Amino acid sequence: MASSRRAPAAGGRPSGEAGLQTPRREARSQAGAALEATTREVLLGFVRVHILYHAARGSVYGLWLMEELAEHGYKLSAGTLYPILHSLESRGLLRRSDVLQDGKIRKYYAITGAGRRALVRIEQRLGELVGEVIGRRHDETANARSHAGRRSAGGRNHSF
Ligand SMILES: [Zn+2]
Repeated sequence: MASSRRAPAAGGRPSGEAGLQTPRREARSQAGAALEATTREVLLGFVRVHILYHAARGSVYGLWLMEELAEHGYKLSAGTLYPILHSLESRGLLRRSDVLQDGKIRKYYAITGAGRRALVRIEQRLGELVGEVIGRRHDETANARSHAGRRSAGGRNHSF
């Protein structure tokens, strides 16, 4: 994914492939590796949502995001986080400004108009997803009913 352009690790933290660790490591089986890779992909999507969410509420910078994300259980290395920030910037969802602070350049990221529009769309999908995946636990029967209804009406088609 976004690993070809790797920013130098800030704050002395090593950058590595295992930048995002799932809380409990699977045994090194093939199924475990596949599960881990898939989980990582999905969680890296969540990380992007976190970044856009926080950038919409004020400028953020890498180290702050790393600490914030760690509180949510995402152990990201700089080598994982910075390429994500760069890709969001190069796609026009974040805008970077370099600020001189204590003799060092700190890269602040703020959300752009395009970033806000992306966030609104993501929030809508996220609400629907949470309603289905989490809500389903509490309401299996009603969910199964509505799915059967939708399937007979031509199935589901999420367009991106
Ligand atoms: Zn957060």
